[in-house]
Amino acid sequence: MFDPAQLNEEYGIPVILKHSRRLNQLCSVAGVNPNFSPERIARLAEGNPEQLVQSPLIWECLTCGLCREVTDGRGDMARFIRAVRREALRRGIAGSDTHGGIMLTAQRIDALGKVQADRNAWIAGEEDLKVERRQGDTLYWVGAAPFLDSTFPDLGSTALESARAAIRLLNHLGIRPVVLEQERFSGHDLLWTGDREGFSSLAAMNMQAIRDSGAKTVIVSSPEDCHTLKMSYKELVGELGVEVLHLSEFLADRLSQLSFSEWPHRISYHDPCRLGRGLGVYDAPRKVLRGVPGLELVEMEHSREMARCCGTSCWINCTRYSKLMQVRRLQEAGATGAEALVTPCSQCVLHFRCATRAEAWTQVRMDVRDWTVFLAGVLQE
Ligand code: SF4
Ligand code: SF4
Repeated sequence: MFDPAQLNEEYGIPVILKHSRRLNQLCSVAGVNPNFSPERIARLAEGNPEQLVQSPLIWECLTCGLCREVTDGRGDMARFIRAVRREALRRGIAGSDTHGGIMLTAQRIDALGKVQADRNAWIAGEEDLKVERRQGDTLYWVGAAPFLDSTFPDLGSTALESARAAIRLLNHLGIRPVVLEQERFSGHDLLWTGDREGFSSLAAMNMQAIRDSGAKTVIVSSPEDCHTLKMSYKELVGELGVEVLHLSEFLADRLSQLSFSEWPHRISYHDPCRLGRGLGVYDAPRKVLRGVPGLELVEMEHSREMARCCGTSCWINCTRYSKLMQVRRLQEAGATGAEALVTPCSQCVLHFRCATRAEAWTQVRMDVRDWTVFLAGVLQE
């Protein structure tokens, strides 16, 4: 049952109101959209929750986790929004799907469990990649990569290249990971757009498939999927009973076994929201980058806990404001003098590249690279 007072208390809406001045200044969306602010959401939550359920504000929040960070974990706007979206969806109100809704529709179909997409067919014929298809100790979670590459070839999606790169790095460490034939979408986007039932269905099928593989460790390179497998399954469905690690954590612990070619250039690193604020993984990806001889890593004005979001999430509500946020983030990277911006999220890469290709924004020049692809490219075999 929708109980606004209980939600307000559970997710610390009064705390958000108390810190609203600072939050309004820090929120990326409020920085570009004069009609949006965390304070407006919190005031509606307290004063008129019925209006809030029907308000576009709940679809414009990026659920980036910055409100929670700034309030020391006491004001969790992201999960509050997730709960309100659930109620909105129940009443038939949804966000505005991007790309004709193809990404969310594919996930809803997957959640029904009636058909099994041959999502890892791409790996057949990749003779240099050593993988297991059914059982093994270590599982590599491919995630939405095959769908991203099929859907966004015009934007230069490198998601599958990133999956290949991850497997190459694992093979270099002597690991032959399982790549599951039964993998489905993790459920991240359904969960955060209010479809709890679709999410739970995907979670149950994925958890069973992971357990059946006999894996003891699941290595994930997608920040959103890593957060979902590690945190959301446990929070809403149950214990997976298997260790879940982001690829950067796994590699950082084995850095002495990796040797990279010299790469004497300056780069900056973009913290994806779900990996940074969501999982607290800030040091591991930077540590691995610093293992590349000659590489100079420079930080942007907003990094780590205060990093700015890439401007759009869950394939909804991508607007001119999203483009503005992306451009600002790229300008921040440019201001460091970096030659490239590196991030481990294939979707952040895609959204940033989209901003540099949109006609209105062609003044932004930044080489945006996938962290995993970059590292596999400088690996000394
Ligand atoms: S969670 Fe992020 S996008 Fe949403 S109101 Fe807070 S700072 Fe803004
Ligand atoms: S930034 Fe581009 S790729 Fe990303 S959701 Fe918006 S339109 Fe799609």
